[in-house]
Amino acid sequence: MVPLTAVVEGETITGPDLSDEEWKNLQVRHKNGLPVTMACCGTPGHLRVPRNGTRHFYHAVDAGCHGAEESKEHLEIKYQLYRICQSEGWETSVEFPAPDRTWIADVYAERDGRKIVFEIQVSTLSPAVLEERDLKYRAEGIQSYWLLDHFLGRAKDFASRYEAHLYEGADRPGERIPYIDEALFATGPENHICIPNGIRSAGLDARKQTLFTTNNPQIPLAVWVKEVLKGNYQWYLEETAAGYHRKRRLLHMAAQALLRFRDFYEKIIRHGIYKEKAGCVTGGSKKLPLGSMTKRG
Ligand SMILES: [Zn+2]
Repeated sequence: MVPLTAVVEGETITGPDLSDEEWKNLQVRHKNGLPVTMACCGTPGHLRVPRNGTRHFYHAVDAGCHGAEESKEHLEIKYQLYRICQSEGWETSVEFPAPDRTWIADVYAERDGRKIVFEIQVSTLSPAVLEERDLKYRAEGIQSYWLLDHFLGRAKDFASRYEAHLYEGADRPGERIPYIDEALFATGPENHICIPNGIRSAGLDARKQTLFTTNNPQIPLAVWVKEVLKGNYQWYLEETAAGYHRKRRLLHMAAQALLRFRDFYEKIIRHGIYKEKAGCVTGGSKKLPLGSMTKRG
């Protein structure tokens, strides 16, 4: 990553946190030979202040560090998240590494035993990789929130998993359950990702620095983050998921009866009795025992 943090004289410093004077001072000392080490990978780094941008450090040489091309938007949002969490009284770090360095969180915040991570994803990321990274946080009891740019496209990548989850364990796999309005199970993009995979996410407009969820087309970053810190977004997602799981259970309970009813209707009423009445029955098809019908397919 293009990091906001670097290690100078054994201490991790956050570039944008320094005053103008401290930053200038560091620049001079660095020019005169003070080593700056990238916090992400331990390789040498330099200081940079892009015009209208956020102060940060960059790799002196291409060290093959993962997100070396982290965008300007990513950097700014990361720093904002960090400041918001701080101002809400959370103990906060940017680019926070796991003790064994198996992950580095964009922003990590902790208070009263609650641990929260915010991850900003501007570039593409496959659902499998997202899930794998999320599991690492869960394994350590950290609640993770993913701010995903190009959210609708990404939610579409998850739609098939949502669908599969909906009909998982069905009596007749692959078959639609009749007489059920599918719209009952339609839900928002963050729920598509959260319900089958347990991954908490929100849509990110990286350029405007706003977020969106199903219920809110545009939320300022600070408003949303404060809700997350209070636990409100978590409860909203959990309530939605619980409601959905209830409906899904009912669907599965009703499925067998509904499928049998459809078979009954198709074979006996529509093709049997109706044709019989119309006088065009062709032998044999009308008197199937019930058992043979339910085993079909
Ligand atoms: Zn690095």
